[in-house]
Amino acid sequence: MANPFRQAMQQLEHAAGYIQLHPDILERLKKPMREMQAAIPVRMDDGALHVFSGYRVQYDNSRGPFKGGIRFHPKTNPDEVRALAFWMTMKCATVGIPYGGGKGGVTVDPKKLSQRELEMLSRGWVRAMRDMVGVDTDIPAPDVYTNPKVMGWMMDEYEQLVGHHEPGMITGKPISIGGSAGRGTATAQGGIYVTEQLLKKLNIQRPRIIVQGFGNAGAVYASLAAEHGWRVVGVSDSKGALYNEKGLDVELLAKHKLQTGSVAGFFTGAAKTMTNEKLLLQPCDLLVPAALEGVLTSINAGRVKARAVVELANGPTTPEADEKLFKKGVVVVPDILANAGGVTVSYFEWVQNRMGYYWAEQEVFDRLRPMMIQAFTDVWNQSKKYSCDMRTGAYIHSLARIAEAMQDRGRI
Ligand code: NAD
Repeated sequence: MANPFRQAMQQLEHAAGYIQLHPDILERLKKPMREMQAAIPVRMDDGALHVFSGYRVQYDNSRGPFKGGIRFHPKTNPDEVRALAFWMTMKCATVGIPYGGGKGGVTVDPKKLSQRELEMLSRGWVRAMRDMVGVDTDIPAPDVYTNPKVMGWMMDEYEQLVGHHEPGMITGKPISIGGSAGRGTATAQGGIYVTEQLLKKLNIQRPRIIVQGFGNAGAVYASLAAEHGWRVVGVSDSKGALYNEKGLDVELLAKHKLQTGSVAGFFTGAAKTMTNEKLLLQPCDLLVPAALEGVLTSINAGRVKARAVVELANGPTTPEADEKLFKKGVVVVPDILANAGGVTVSYFEWVQNRMGYYWAEQEVFDRLRPMMIQAFTDVWNQSKKYSCDMRTGAYIHSLARIAEAMQDRGRI
């Protein structure tokens, strides 16, 4: 698989080539400000000691505290976390929330851990990173294979260490301990707001959609899409893929996933099973990658049949694939815009924690919607102004904000 940090740096250089970006800013953005790799020992249920590798990358904080999720995945490595931290920096600037970017992770297959082992690992990550994280310094959140329960353990561990309540040190928490209404569905909901704008631009009424990855981002997006009357024709998860050109029953599919742990094995009508790779190449209007990075590459991008790609996942498209898709006229709505609803509602959660005053779900979405529409419009307009793809348009837009903050701080 392509190196995601190299991919991120190629995107940065490409966008910088369109504007008069100060060379000092480019130099600063090529390296994270601070990185931590820590050994996290966990006593396993069988009595053996296992030492996991944990990471936190603090990429840039010119616009505010570092902000970004924690990923638990067997393939997580420093370059992946570095790339994700860079993308968070760009994402927060794209939607205009007052944060820099960071990311964390642990190299682990959480599906192989018991609940007790998972809790020990989550608490261990916080003990290792306690000097880095905090409400005004660096605020983690969930990412792949972490969830509100993990955030709850992490907040509890942190508060025990510092000796006072500080719910704003982490977001994506359960609502009972300071989470925000709407945070669980925010990434997908933000993606839907962006998709509505895209469909207007492309003049598509009732899109056929393929969603790769049926987790927090993908499954919720699929179900909101179905509620809109859009046709979800394909889905996949790590165990397999399904396609039915007439549309899949997303509600039944979600129940099946809950019962069996996978979408694979769900049969209705003419649904066909296939590999994950093949699913990406089936006919549809919108292809929505919502799993991991590097899935659209120079090898398959030329055969994508979608009219547009909406990147709910971070980094699913390599720069070579971007170029091919742009030449083919396939619009790619980039990750730093399409999935920014999650971090935007994380920002709302942090604001509510600091006020100690909580909003109803409707208020959360009433605030999210205009921010996503504004960000879409800004990015779309930049891409038209510079005759470039939307990713480059988003980078141009966010780099201007980051550059202004760096200059106003006198960092360059
Ligand atoms: P998740 O753990 O809830 O779900 C991930 C899903 O991807 C699972 O269904 C898994 O089975 C599937 N998957 C794994 N490997 C796959 C493969 N090779 N092919 C197809 N499916 C595969 O994770 P999530 O939180 O939904 O995150 C998914 C993506 O969205 C990530 O790139 C993440 O960084 C991004 N994202 C998530 C959020 C959020 O708030 N959760 C916010 C912004 C971006």
